[in-house]
Amino acid sequence: SGETLLAGLVGRGIQLSRTPAMHVAEAESQGMHAAYQLLDADLLDRPLAEILDAAEMMGFSGLNVTYPFKIEVLPLLDTLSTNAKSVGAVNTIAFRDGRRFGHNTDLWGFAEGLRRGLPGAALDHVLQFGAGGAGVAVAHALAELGVRQLSIVDVDPERAATLATQIAHTHETCAAVAVEDAAALIQSDRPDGIVNATPMGMAKLPGTAVETSLLQPTMWVADIVYFPLETELLRAARARGCRVLPGSGMAVFQAVRAFELFTGRKADPIRMKATFDAF
Ligand code: NAD
Repeated sequence: SGETLLAGLVGRGIQLSRTPAMHVAEAESQGMHAAYQLLDADLLDRPLAEILDAAEMMGFSGLNVTYPFKIEVLPLLDTLSTNAKSVGAVNTIAFRDGRRFGHNTDLWGFAEGLRRGLPGAALDHVLQFGAGGAGVAVAHALAELGVRQLSIVDVDPERAATLATQIAHTHETCAAVAVEDAAALIQSDRPDGIVNATPMGMAKLPGTAVETSLLQPTMWVADIVYFPLETELLRAARARGCRVLPGSGMAVFQAVRAFELFTGRKADPIRMKATFDAF
């Protein structure tokens, strides 16, 4: 068809993002023309509001929003989806009829990645490391997946406490608590699953937030870090016999949902994952 996808990513430090390639390849596979622009605030040196105005004026279908703008963008939008409201952050904007709709596809992205990547995983008790920007979306996703007890640990205890309170208030079925001593909790309570939502394990931040010697083969372990794909945590967990979920799931499925919001067409997750993996 002659339809065009015109979209972009606004953020800082985005030059190596795989999101543009996923959207362009998916659109072209569906016979669309595609242009996906990197709107790098480091290079543009313009306020976020002006970047949004320009993209909207140029006829963009929408924008992905990443660090450090996911919260700053909120007052620039007309309508927020339920997920964007609960997370308090937006990673996808759709422009429609002069209005700006804010979405959070990180939440669904993590949930869908886990449903597909760890089918049948026990969800009675999950221990989550990291209550920062991504951690908020992950915690909401875990509560929606049916986690009954969510223990949250962060080196900043106030962040863990705030997120636990927020989850407990918004999800009746999920008892969320902040935890200070994760090692003691792993040994005494043996959670079903462990999620890393800290930046530990990134190429520039080697190491693990989790004491890997405590992992049991019955536990599943998910990481949202995806550079590298196999973090030190996942390598150790695999060696100890745990089922593991790499960060590519969330990264691919947030894009799958964003593509659908931009174009109104279904995206093929397997095809988008193949593009992601080709890097
Ligand atoms: P952030 O800085 O907002 O939050 C990180 C949180 O982890 C902070 O609250 C910090 O105090 C806490 N923390 C750091 N080290 C810790 C430790 N050892 N133990 C416990 N808590 C610790 O960062 P963010 O935006 O939430 O991103 C976190 C990571 O997730 C980054 O590596 C990012 O690349 C990745 N990420 C992946 C996806 C994806 O799609 N897979 C999406 C978003 C972010």
